[in-house]
Amino acid sequence: MLLFLSPRTRTRFLRLSQSTTTTLTFRYAHTARRSPSPASLLASSISKYKPAKMAATTATPDLPILPPEDSHLTAKFGRETANYFSGSPLNRLSFLRTDHAFLAPAFKHPSASFLLLDSLAPLVKKDDTTQLAFVSLGEIRDGLRGEDIFEKTEEELVREFNSEDEERIVVFLGMDERGVLGGHGGQQGGERFRYKDFEGAPYFAVDVSRWEGKEGLSEKLENERGAMFYGGGPRHMGLVAGQAAMYGYARALVDWNARTPFCAQCGQRTLSVNAGTKRVCPPTDRGVERKACATRGTVSNHSFPRTDPTVIMAIVSADGSKVLLGRQRRWPKYWYSTLAGFQEPGESIEEAVRREVWEESGVQVGRVVLHSSQPWPFPASLMIGAVGQALPGEGEKIYLGHDAELESAKWFPMDEVKEALAKGTHNMGDEVPKEYVEGALRLPPQTAIANRLINSVVEGWWVASKM
Ligand SMILES: [Zn+2]
Repeated sequence: MLLFLSPRTRTRFLRLSQSTTTTLTFRYAHTARRSPSPASLLASSISKYKPAKMAATTATPDLPILPPEDSHLTAKFGRETANYFSGSPLNRLSFLRTDHAFLAPAFKHPSASFLLLDSLAPLVKKDDTTQLAFVSLGEIRDGLRGEDIFEKTEEELVREFNSEDEERIVVFLGMDERGVLGGHGGQQGGERFRYKDFEGAPYFAVDVSRWEGKEGLSEKLENERGAMFYGGGPRHMGLVAGQAAMYGYARALVDWNARTPFCAQCGQRTLSVNAGTKRVCPPTDRGVERKACATRGTVSNHSFPRTDPTVIMAIVSADGSKVLLGRQRRWPKYWYSTLAGFQEPGESIEEAVRREVWEESGVQVGRVVLHSSQPWPFPASLMIGAVGQALPGEGEKIYLGHDAELESAKWFPMDEVKEALAKGTHNMGDEVPKEYVEGALRLPPQTAIANRLINSVVEGWWVASKM
């Protein structure tokens, strides 16, 4: 399978002047409990802005950029690559999702902020749709039917389960410990929520897709808050770095909850617990015992959110002078990307890379090295980026007869690819950049890991450094 699920985006509104790059602080803090997690630190310290590398006329958003550091790992393997949809400013505090004493007050705290999704389209600022807009609990209380979602413990919710209740999907996204997001008031500051050793502003995602009175809510948010649901559809690809990661997480969880109303073991309705990150099969419905279900006795087959690993790889020729790219028939003319495919059970990542490349293009790959990864929440992929090198001679021969997926696969000289990276990158649904010359190679934009992989190989990432 060849993947680059680019949406029909509406990123042309992006102004280059708004294009900012999150500079991330890279610190390790495993031991001090008061310290935010490494992931949170990695992502949360927005200190200054600098323009991301991009073609001059594209409206491609920024990427998270990791500051330089001098670890032994970097000395040996080079700098880490942070891809779009990674780098969330929130500390997920996943171990608190089951802690009722945390969730109940966090949900009601004045600093709690809510990201609304309507059919997976996020609420954004109307005058700058690269920014998410957050609301307060008071603004959505009607939609939540006045219910205090986390008032009851999970035991109580399971005991009182009624399969006819229309579920309200609320997901705990994490805590903004550094105050980088501004919250529902659009301002930093204000009272911080404290629990044990943690403090900051709690963030939640709320699915409003099936709410009665949704239109009234939208109108109110537009008039009073200058916010609207993103009009470009359920795949916003133009958010600033960090917020894109928050949206990706919220989208994946809201979508999974909505798609998973039934138990995979027994087929009966399930209930969302663990702050939106697990679904259980309650033993009773309105007090009446339900069919037996194995999930109640063992941990097997509970419903947890899916993550579907996908391998995506830039393959260089045996002599290192060319890159293997492929295209599907439905793609825009001259538009190529890296090969990709689903990781299958019972194979290593390296084997999946070799298998997919051979199945789709006939090319035989030798050594494979992992490069970086990218959450791709459409709906639940994790793109595992790799670089591989073809075997010489017959190994480089292209043959499309195994699998009908590709219309074409070709070896492109590095110079041609370099030119395309500079002048011909764009999202599938978007217009080509002004500098693009008709007939030349086109490639995905930097928000796609395919672009990052291609960029790495043309820059010689895979070549041994001279000691
Ligand atoms: Zn069940």
